[in-house]
Amino acid sequence: MIVSSQTVPFVDLTLQHQPIQADIEQAIAAVVQRGDFILGKTLKEFEAEFAEASGAKYGVGVASGTDAIALGLQACGITQGDDVLVPANTFIATVMGVIQAGATPILVDCDPHTALIDLNLAAKAITPRTKAILPVHLYGQMVSPTALLDFAQAHNLIIFEDAAQAHLAQREGYKAGSVGMAAAFSFYPSKNLGAFGNGGMLITSNEEVAQRVHTLRNYGAPRKYYHTEVGKNSRLDTLQAAILQVKLPHLSQWNQLRNQAGQIYDQGLKLGEDKGIIPIKNLSQEGHVYHLYVIRINKGVSMSRDQVQAFLGERGIQTGIHYPIPCHLQPAYKSLGYQLGDFPQAEILCEQILSLPMYPGITREQITCVVEQLSLI
Ligand SMILES: *Cc1c(COP(=O)(O)O)cnc(C)c1O
Repeated sequence: MIVSSQTVPFVDLTLQHQPIQADIEQAIAAVVQRGDFILGKTLKEFEAEFAEASGAKYGVGVASGTDAIALGLQACGITQGDDVLVPANTFIATVMGVIQAGATPILVDCDPHTALIDLNLAAKAITPRTKAILPVHLYGQMVSPTALLDFAQAHNLIIFEDAAQAHLAQREGYKAGSVGMAAAFSFYPSKNLGAFGNGGMLITSNEEVAQRVHTLRNYGAPRKYYHTEVGKNSRLDTLQAAILQVKLPHLSQWNQLRNQAGQIYDQGLKLGEDKGIIPIKNLSQEGHVYHLYVIRINKGVSMSRDQVQAFLGERGIQTGIHYPIPCHLQPAYKSLGYQLGDFPQAEILCEQILSLPMYPGITREQITCVVEQLSLI
């Protein structure tokens, strides 16, 4: 391994946890004291606090972001025989959630500059069975809310947001999760707001939708031992809610630090653009919460993306690829009937993208170190 001036991890969660560790331990102890581990007091408090912070009336904690999508879509009335528009370049859970709701995902290619779903292409993909669009606020940047609302109105579709990477993101005066009928969040540990395990939340301002997810997540029972639908066992643990409740007041500051780091990268990488090292475009400015900072290694660059990743790795800089295979080419989803060439932008992105170190607390020096190494390729 080549010795470098400093190593830069891809994420470092200890930085955010150390200063609040005592508060977290106290919150855990309080739950243990009360013993209300399932559907307890802290869960109800955190549901209300997170929904309010995200601009919605109701929050319903579930076991994962995936379940928030699956149960949330069902609660919005999406069911077997319905089609749902989803981006081809997303984490697989988006597509999985649609299938678990019983509906069929209709994949749509992306805008290569922002990596977000291309609404012009989405319009062309609409079928007579299409009921909803599931935009993903990928990497922490929202799909344009005004464009989404116009699109949904023109085609009479429900908007259901996948905001798993976009806690408290904003664009055009809207908060992530407040644009559509409902939205799904994930509290997977490395998300912008992460639990100490799995967790998710459905938020909505529609009381019926909230009620239905309450029922669905709790064995399909609107009241104890009375089951109106099959449902699921999918609750956010009170312990996880207690941890998240301690973390929530820090979230906007952590997001600010991510946004500042994103701006430092943008500045530093300006010179590389001629060479073909191109950051994914930030169109939402301060509202971008940079779950990930992603660049593209274009064809003109002397090294391939994989070679760049190895080059950085040898110099102590950890990177990731989000995601290396587009959804339509995943073996498990063959039955959807797509093939290579169907979504050319998503396919090119998968070969070119590289996620650079990004977390609240990453220093200017660390970012400079990454930028300097990139300038050598
Ligand atoms: C993380 C993530 C999910 C799924 O969340 P889980 O809590 O892991 O189930 C869904 N969609 C996107 C875009 C994600 O990044």
